[in-house]
Amino acid sequence: MSGLARTLGAINLGQGFPDDPGPEPLRAKAADAVLNGYNQYPPMAGLPDLRQAVAGHYARTQGLDLDWASEVTITSGATEALAAAFLALIEPGDEVIVIQPFYDAYPPLIRRAGGVVKLVGVRPPGWRFDRATLEAAFSDRTKLVVLNNPNNPTGVVLPDEDLALLAELCVKHDVTAICDEVWEQVVFAGARHRPLIAYPGMRARTVKIGSAGKMFGLTGWKVGFLCAAPELTYSLARAHQFLTFTTPPNLQSAVAWGLDNLPDWFADMPLGLQRARDRLSEGLRREGFAVLASQGTYFLNVDLAASGVGEGDRDFCLRAVHEAGVAAIPVSAFYEEDPVTSVVRLCFSKRDEVLDGGIERLAKARDLSIRSNAPYSARG
Ligand code: PMP
Repeated sequence: MSGLARTLGAINLGQGFPDDPGPEPLRAKAADAVLNGYNQYPPMAGLPDLRQAVAGHYARTQGLDLDWASEVTITSGATEALAAAFLALIEPGDEVIVIQPFYDAYPPLIRRAGGVVKLVGVRPPGWRFDRATLEAAFSDRTKLVVLNNPNNPTGVVLPDEDLALLAELCVKHDVTAICDEVWEQVVFAGARHRPLIAYPGMRARTVKIGSAGKMFGLTGWKVGFLCAAPELTYSLARAHQFLTFTTPPNLQSAVAWGLDNLPDWFADMPLGLQRARDRLSEGLRREGFAVLASQGTYFLNVDLAASGVGEGDRDFCLRAVHEAGVAAIPVSAFYEEDPVTSVVRLCFSKRDEVLDGGIERLAKARDLSIRSNAPYSARG
């Protein structure tokens, strides 16, 4: 969709990256570190300054007591952290539970590591799992469960009871949780991020993954964090050693500085994004769209069927980009089985004029879709 948006000159509400350039002092620190700092291989587990800053940040913001020296590893983005976790912890034939819609990197990485993906589907409007479905996915071959919370693409921040249920089942079945929490700082009023690692029995069986790119709205930086008990960290670090070995030292030292010195950023950034979310959802509602709740991330979803649009998400997105000049993502792309086909994901971390233009164009796409008597892909 981003490729099509570029080719067609469309407004891109598809891919998740902010228009805001990110905190200026942080970018200045990175520039200074490139010019005047150390530019050779940093230690394999990451700069001690950054590992300490990560442990300190999670102590302040989530009440966690991580030992930076034995429980924190720096990776080249959350993507490398995920790959390292799967390569380190999966033996061929192990089952890995994945909740769909999922972040698209999970199934291919799990399969490359020899794992067997077991899917659990959740559906709109609440996108919550229930005890029976979740329990049915566990077997005596289950090794890992992957949790993405706050969730991309649904925008859900899971409530305490769902996390407690997942923790209970992980403990009961002796399963390790891979927790992709890259959106932990992007949570809006009324919701609270709770790390699964803090739940009873989970301290030694959770790999918590974070991303400085998401924390500071600098998605290209690719500085990630793997946090886990020492025994898990030992295996994770071995996998990281042969994936990338290290992560650029100048970005690491800038992120360390940012975590220790920019508390206002973490308070202000979600407020700005919440205003953008509200601008997009109110505009879309005015134009007749049924907008689903978004409690966190850069994303909100619209339900096409409930918006009077009969065509599926993929057709609607193709029509929107080709005929109305706006790119969005069909949520069925985040499923492998039994997809939800009437929901479209939109990114709101954009300037007001981009959001307003997007609303106008999505309204046009909705009108064209309602007036047309065939799905976009079926036209001659
Ligand atoms: N996990 C999720 C759920 C994401 O949304 C993203 C980025 N869109 C990532 C992982 C990748 O993070 P990074 O850029 O730090 O590799």
